[in-house]
Amino acid sequence: MNEPLTGGCQCGAVRYRITGPRPAVYACHCRECQKQSASAFGMSLPVRVEHFAVEGETGWWERGTDLGTRTRCYFCRVCGSRVYHQSSASDDRVTVKAGSLDDTGWLRPQAHLWVSRKQPWVVLDPDVPAHETQPSDLAAWRGAGPGELE
Ligand SMILES: [Zn+2]
Ligand SMILES: [Zn+2]
Repeated sequence: MNEPLTGGCQCGAVRYRITGPRPAVYACHCRECQKQSASAFGMSLPVRVEHFAVEGETGWWERGTDLGTRTRCYFCRVCGSRVYHQSSASDDRVTVKAGSLDDTGWLRPQAHLWVSRKQPWVVLDPDVPAHETQPSDLAAWRGAGPGELE
């Protein structure tokens, strides 16, 4: 059994705990992730809802996606940090924003999504799978454990 992972927002008002197997890590270079992070790409951890416990007051904002689904985006009401997302296509999972972990030292993306939109200076490791957009069956892909993405 792995040690639980802990993390939270920038100010500490929202805290969470992830139990269960170590989640996969992926980087997404789409424009939504660039906007959301106000940076070059987003990093996410898909986590089953029963393995995710959050404390503190969150607000949410919801947006549509190109696939016709809805993504609900949860943030700290105090500092505004985005903490996790939940898609209407997979209500059994959340995707936690990986940079909010207390320990980010172990994070290595196991896949890159939407590299067709990536910023040109970002150089990818050729050994890490890179998708022009995203795998067509994202729900199944998210369920893959570490090292089982391909
Ligand atoms: Zn906060
Ligand atoms: Zn994205």
